[in-house]
Amino acid sequence: MLNEIQKKQIRQMAADGVGYRETMKCVLASKQDIIEYRNELVETGWTPREEYTDAEWKENSCLWCGKEYQTATTGRKRKFCSNQCRRKYYMLYPTTPRSSAQCAYCGKVFEMINSKQKFCSHECYIKNRFWSREDAEKLVDALMTGEDITIPQWLRDKLKAQL
Ligand SMILES: [Zn+2]
Ligand SMILES: [Zn+2]
Repeated sequence: MLNEIQKKQIRQMAADGVGYRETMKCVLASKQDIIEYRNELVETGWTPREEYTDAEWKENSCLWCGKEYQTATTGRKRKFCSNQCRRKYYMLYPTTPRSSAQCAYCGKVFEMINSKQKFCSHECYIKNRFWSREDAEKLVDALMTGEDITIPQWLRDKLKAQL
């Protein structure tokens, strides 16, 4: 298991545009743990600007670093403040989809940051991964009362397998 310091180090390296291989050389943790954590970042659409939790993002804030930049009045809308940020972004997210997707946990439709993103937020990723007995009880309650619920993807898959 990675500790918070190792996680932060991995995020820092991803922020700097460092690939898997180099990250493995620098972070003293198992390869498996590092790969899993990098995948977690990708699946939740992480970018370094998430490190600044209290910042307010404007329309023209760089998708990677969060810095505001001058928007062009004509032509295609830019997403990055610099080519450097664009390059770092594509290091972590080699392919960018145009479409939106449905969150595998809460079912909300969100705009994808990369083609591997499955969750609208990190919170949903965690909830989906560490689905608890408490959640299961809430689900049963909702089923009994006919309340609207979202069944997490993994549970749907499991149920399907049982049919
Ligand atoms: Zn930037
Ligand atoms: Zn979600």
